[in-house]
Amino acid sequence: MKRVVILGSTGSIGRSALSVIERFSKEFSVVALSAGSNIRLLEAQIKKFKPLIAACLDKNLCIELKKRVSSRTKIVSGEEGLELVAALKETDIVVVAISGFSALRALLASIRAGKQIALANKEALVSAGSLISREAKRAKIDLIPIDSEQCAIFQCLNNDENKKALSRIFLTASGGPFYFKKNINFKKVSKKDVLSHPRWSMGEKITVDSATLMNKGLEVIEAKWLFGVDLEKIKVLIHPQSTIHSMVEFVDRSVLAQISVTDMRLPIQFALTYPRRLKSPFQSVDFVKLREFSFFEPDTKRFPCLSLAYEAARQKSSAATVLNAANEEAVGAFLKDNLNFSDIPKVVEHTLNNHNAFDCSRLEDILAADSWARVRAREFINKTST
Ligand code: NDP
Ligand code: MG
Repeated sequence: MKRVVILGSTGSIGRSALSVIERFSKEFSVVALSAGSNIRLLEAQIKKFKPLIAACLDKNLCIELKKRVSSRTKIVSGEEGLELVAALKETDIVVVAISGFSALRALLASIRAGKQIALANKEALVSAGSLISREAKRAKIDLIPIDSEQCAIFQCLNNDENKKALSRIFLTASGGPFYFKKNINFKKVSKKDVLSHPRWSMGEKITVDSATLMNKGLEVIEAKWLFGVDLEKIKVLIHPQSTIHSMVEFVDRSVLAQISVTDMRLPIQFALTYPRRLKSPFQSVDFVKLREFSFFEPDTKRFPCLSLAYEAARQKSSAATVLNAANEEAVGAFLKDNLNFSDIPKVVEHTLNNHNAFDCSRLEDILAADSWARVRAREFINKTST
């Protein structure tokens, strides 16, 4: 039986991971859970899955949570609590489903403790790719991707010959809610419009990123680190059916694609059961009903975030840290109604343009680049919104 820790168990990926575990209750046991502040849901999850330990970032809410659950589950709080859970001795695999750069310390703690990682979070890898890759190599662990595109590529490259013969990666993108609405005025779109993704139901931050195409930009950088591939070999294709989750082309020009229904529980199950495959409850793809697969070149004029991500990734590594931090600040401001949707790329571009990129692979340097970018981005947001 695999013993699983879920970091970010109250989020969209965390909840889906628990539903996979529930279905395969003979295969997995939950040893630890964590949340940011949603103690109501964390309490319910603790009662259902009876983990040894649970962490909540908010220290005051933790005091409340302790009163509500049985003493069988130890409750810990703050960053220290999260890192303790991330490195727990009684664990085989850690699902990293905390959103944003804030997952970085816990992810590093899991890697350094030699745990197998099922990685949903992308912002930490984008911001600290060289540090994470180095630590994972040192600990001799694989990062098994949950992000559906990376999971697809991982499956297509899952033998040494395929890895050696890789020519190009085709990273597919649904296009989000606006790609095919050509007359839409980005200055006027509401939060509700942005949060209505046509294909996936996800947390708010990644849903906004899908609408700006920054999500795909982050995934380009994520793929670069996960598979050790040059940027120029990673090509984004808009594929509105979201059924081909990504493809790889080999030197002989043969292409492998991973195809399945659109449900995050599938890549989560793959990452948890890897290297085995277990029978799943999902539907087969109905190719006749689908009728067509279509592909389009991304429109980077309307969606500049994708080009900004490529530009940042071509520079020294702090540029990707800055890109991610500025984007997190801009998306956070948009979700609080302090910024127009159309200004998100402007915040990122302005912050990147003011940054002198340097190689940063030490944690202190990454944290410094992240903080620097957040201050700059906030200054720009304050000016833009007044
Ligand atoms: P959600 O916002 O739904 O969930 C985030 C989780 O992280 C929640 O449990 C939240 O706790 C917790 N959390 C947030 N901030 C902190 C913090 N500072 N410290 C500790 N815990 C924190 O996000 P998603 O599940 O949508 O996404 C999670 C990650 O997976 C992201 O990096 C995203 O890019 C990636 N991903 C998600 C996909 C999806 O389908 N959702 C697909 C592919 C990748 P609380 O609930 O208490 O706030
Ligand atoms: Mg994805």
